[in-house]
Amino acid sequence: MSVRESIGLHEQSCTSCLICVRDCPSQCIEIERHTEQLTEGRRPKTVHVLDAFRIDYALCMYCGICVDVCPTDALIWSPVAGLALPSRAALVSDREDLARRAQ
Ligand code: SF4
Ligand code: SF4
Repeated sequence: MSVRESIGLHEQSCTSCLICVRDCPSQCIEIERHTEQLTEGRRPKTVHVLDAFRIDYALCMYCGICVDVCPTDALIWSPVAGLALPSRAALVSDREDLARRAQ
């Protein structure tokens, strides 16, 4: 069984679909995204582009639902610890920190 110290994000696999946001029972995942039109190929296509991704570990209960429901395996359990932080604000893991935890 993998070590579950925190959650990591493989940004390149995230489609900003918001499934993890909707299914998180603690409502501790926050995503900002925008849409772009792709004109390559035969038909124009609209895609979501990730702007920000945050997990608030002050609220997270480590249930793993976000990891389980992510359709692209962008969210993973990480062996990287370091969440015993001194302030409430420091418990919010941002995009860069989540990416570091996925390496
Ligand atoms: S582990 Fe559970 S509570 Fe924590 S972010 Fe994922 S779905 Fe939300
Ligand atoms: S469920 Fe996965 S692909 Fe969808 S927004 Fe969350 S991390 Fe990204």
